[in-house]
Amino acid sequence: MPGLRIHTMLFPGGKRRALTLSYDDGVLQDRRLVEMMDRYDVRGTFNLNSGLLGRKERMVLDGIDVDISTVSPGEVPALYKNHEVATHGVRHTALTGCGAAALREILEDRAALEALVPYPVRGHAYPFGLYDDGVLAMLRAAGICYARTVRSTHAFDLPGDFLTWDPTCHHGDPELMALAEQFCTGEALFGLPRLFYLWGHAYEFDMYGNWDVMESFLAYVSGYRDRIWMASNGEIFHYVSAWRRLVYTADGRRVYNPTDTELWLEWLGAVSAIPAGGTAELEN
Ligand SMILES: [Zn+2]
Repeated sequence: MPGLRIHTMLFPGGKRRALTLSYDDGVLQDRRLVEMMDRYDVRGTFNLNSGLLGRKERMVLDGIDVDISTVSPGEVPALYKNHEVATHGVRHTALTGCGAAALREILEDRAALEALVPYPVRGHAYPFGLYDDGVLAMLRAAGICYARTVRSTHAFDLPGDFLTWDPTCHHGDPELMALAEQFCTGEALFGLPRLFYLWGHAYEFDMYGNWDVMESFLAYVSGYRDRIWMASNGEIFHYVSAWRRLVYTADGRRVYNPTDTELWLEWLGAVSAIPAGGTAELEN
């Protein structure tokens, strides 16, 4: 039987799996989560409301009184230095039906967060998971390139549209460890690349007393780190966007990489790295 004649994307180092985390609201419990993630060398994106940073607040959620106080702006650069900071709206407002006010919520949040971190802030997580066509238009106008929903897919597919990026699951999902095992040890059809995208709020670990769930998850996946690219949301967006810009000859045997990123692919069973700005002959 002839091999599958497609150019298959591989992640950096020729890896077939990537893991990313996404945590919202910039709460004080992020300190413990970041310490844990750093210990396992796992990376993620923290979606912050710049207008609510440094706020002291408690809230009753699910009948449980929980501290949802947030980190101060001054703490942001050091706390999240191994991770990515992204927008979550200035004041955690639902942006649907807001018209141009949504644009302001995002642009102002970007600007305030970019005063704290050295890179352009291009990611977003939808407050309350809410969006519509108007919000998508405002995100594009504000220069946002990828945005997380709250719809769990229980799957490991890369998003077709990064502005409606559905996560694999929430950390409180009863299927979490079964999905982790499937992700780390299972093989995808045709060897296609797989992404595990986990999300949540760090205050939930205090609410439900389940920090051990995260510890177990991180310990398990990090046991397979030789086969997993640990990356922030932004790094995955950057890599996949670059990969989608590869230019092939008509016979598919030579490929030009017009980007600034070394890109990996598999063609008829052979793995190649295409240097940034370079052209490569593919084997087979
Ligand atoms: Zn939120």
